[in-house]
Amino acid sequence: MRLEGLHHITMITGDAQSNVAFYADVLGLRLVKKTVNFDDPSAYHLYFGDESGAPGSILTWFEFAGAAPGRAGIGMIHTLQLGVPSAASIDFWEQRLKAKGANPTRVSERTLRVADPDGLGLELVVADDGNPPLPAAHLEVPAEHAITGLEGARAYSMFHGVEEKVLTDVLGFAYEGDGEYRVQGEQRHFHWAYDEAPASSPRPGAGTVHHIAWASQDDDHVKWQERVRAADGYATEVIDRDYFNAIYFREPRGVLFEIATMSPGFATDEDTEHLGEELRLPQQHEHLRAQLERSLQPVVNPRTKVVA
Ligand code: ZN
Repeated sequence: MRLEGLHHITMITGDAQSNVAFYADVLGLRLVKKTVNFDDPSAYHLYFGDESGAPGSILTWFEFAGAAPGRAGIGMIHTLQLGVPSAASIDFWEQRLKAKGANPTRVSERTLRVADPDGLGLELVVADDGNPPLPAAHLEVPAEHAITGLEGARAYSMFHGVEEKVLTDVLGFAYEGDGEYRVQGEQRHFHWAYDEAPASSPRPGAGTVHHIAWASQDDDHVKWQERVRAADGYATEVIDRDYFNAIYFREPRGVLFEIATMSPGFATDEDTEHLGEELRLPQQHEHLRAQLERSLQPVVNPRTKVVA
């Protein structure tokens, strides 16, 4: 039994429209689902990913409209790493981000750093160590430079360079030294790492990460829950999120982990060609549709047309 790498990462945005403009237009991802926070249906939950909404490509945001900017600190993820195909793609993205008014920093031939509109730290990294690419199509982004999915994430921790046994013994991560781990699935892998926490205290808010979800085969999901509980971890009951089933628990360094099933996926309530076009509500909130369609600020997706 092994985790199939990453499923998704979920953040907080203070403004859904600028979030959509950045991820679906500037970065060229596909808005694959427009729904609400199942636990608070007055707020959007937006999902971005590749053309089909595959696990491993998914970034999601809860909107808390007007939320104050947060600050990543101990026990929080501070940087997400998005794959691009080549070093030439790093050049392309440096130019494109500058042209779009973002302010990228070239870290190396293989790494470009930029903050999203909420201040979330992103790195575009050359992804040439084996993950099958999960691209989306965008008219202004040549296919050979399209983002290929999530490659890694880094969090802040105390004792960041000490091996965390819950990750290795319970979850099956491989420790690579210096706070770095590899989550190796059958098809995909993901780089998970800790850095030394800053002195400033953490502050949840816009631009911070809410949780990270690992992918599991459906058959294994309850076994993962049992394994976390057997290690004295508090794991929630299995929660039906419509597009996957989820359990949540906090790993010992403080980051909220989720394990999400790889199916049924995002094409369960709308066709693959029309993913993300209409507001989708879980059944338990469908009776609120008229009210939510009035109260939620309409979000315009700038991606109107795709090239195959
Ligand atoms: Zn989640």
